[in-house]
Amino acid sequence: MRVSVEAYGCTLNQGESRFMQELLEGAGHEVVEPDDAETSLVVTCCVIESTERRMLKRIAELKEKDKRVLIGGCMASIMKEKVSAVDPDAVFISPRNLEKVLDEVGEGDGKSPGEPADRVLPENSIDAIVPIGQGCTERCSYCVTRLARGALKSRPEEDITASVSRRLAEGFKEIRLTAQDTAAYGRDNDSSLPDLLNRITSLDGEFRIRIGMANITNLKPVLAETIRAFDSDKVYKFLHLPVQSGDDDLLRSMRRRYSVKDFIDICEDFRSKFPNPSISTDIITGFPGETQEQFQASLDLMKEVRPDSINVTRFSAREGTEAFNMDKKVPGWESKERSRELTRLRLGMSLEKKESLVGSAFRVMTTERLKPGTSMARTDSYRPVVLPGDLPLGSFYDVKIVSATDACLKAELA
Ligand code: SF4
Repeated sequence: MRVSVEAYGCTLNQGESRFMQELLEGAGHEVVEPDDAETSLVVTCCVIESTERRMLKRIAELKEKDKRVLIGGCMASIMKEKVSAVDPDAVFISPRNLEKVLDEVGEGDGKSPGEPADRVLPENSIDAIVPIGQGCTERCSYCVTRLARGALKSRPEEDITASVSRRLAEGFKEIRLTAQDTAAYGRDNDSSLPDLLNRITSLDGEFRIRIGMANITNLKPVLAETIRAFDSDKVYKFLHLPVQSGDDDLLRSMRRRYSVKDFIDICEDFRSKFPNPSISTDIITGFPGETQEQFQASLDLMKEVRPDSINVTRFSAREGTEAFNMDKKVPGWESKERSRELTRLRLGMSLEKKESLVGSAFRVMTTERLKPGTSMARTDSYRPVVLPGDLPLGSFYDVKIVSATDACLKAELA
């Protein structure tokens, strides 16, 4: 069968779509461009309303072109009616049963049913996404993802380590461990994120591990061990720690079970252990009831902590969530203005931080091909560095930073 695969949203969605693509290729199906496909697999995201609309529009387009549409990702769990209204023949592949994609497309040549194909290194990158679990322990009042992904389900350490070994054997050098909340890993199977990291970093070879988004509530109890596990050269000194607001009352209304001080303390602990780590966070603007003072508190927190990157999201009322029914909605124009102000701050701070690194020396690993004659590399803190030349991926270089933009550093080989 000729099948197209497209994925939207978080790294976990990307990882699941790659896994289903491998299953299909392993069974002998051909993965092609959407226009050439008989069947189209769409791994959907519906975290905010605008994305949901974009997904439904894409499904309608494929339907229009007489494609048989398979729906994966979060909409497959919680938006079947809305999808079926657009395409009554759409088939749903639950994120908890990815193997079902073969039932729907067919066992193919039967040579290796259900066995994912060995991954051929893509030409332009050497990163492999390895999901470590899905679902989570929290009940954030605005979050539709937890409705789609359900309770925490961590993969066994052995399975994850076997997946990582397999990827390393295939030549991948950057392993992206992902979940809704990586810090919750193992709470349901007597393991933990630091245990898992220690097991993976004991694997032979020179590679790098990037840890996906972690919730402060679940990171706090394992922080000391996690920082010790991060001390391995194989772990990027990169922490993605969504704080969402700089005001404790608003965090309570979001049902985020930590305080602003917890966020500050974790960032300080991380920075006191590692020289110049990279910290990324998320802020929601316009959450119901958010006053100008509370928004100012978020701005002030960003100015105090100065994270390397801030993902700014405007509040989007999602059906089925507690926040959907909250009153005191912030007017759209005001929420938009707040996210613009935060984005201006983010860009300014990002440029300032990167400019402060001009003249510094780093050891970097090449991870991606950019336009001909340039390569992307990452420092040990996962900072993006553009290098001249079509350099072999997965190689290490000593470089000197010569300039910076708000998006990346530029360097020359030392
Ligand atoms: S931690 Fe909160 S925001 Fe993240 S997936 Fe769970 S409920 Fe949603």
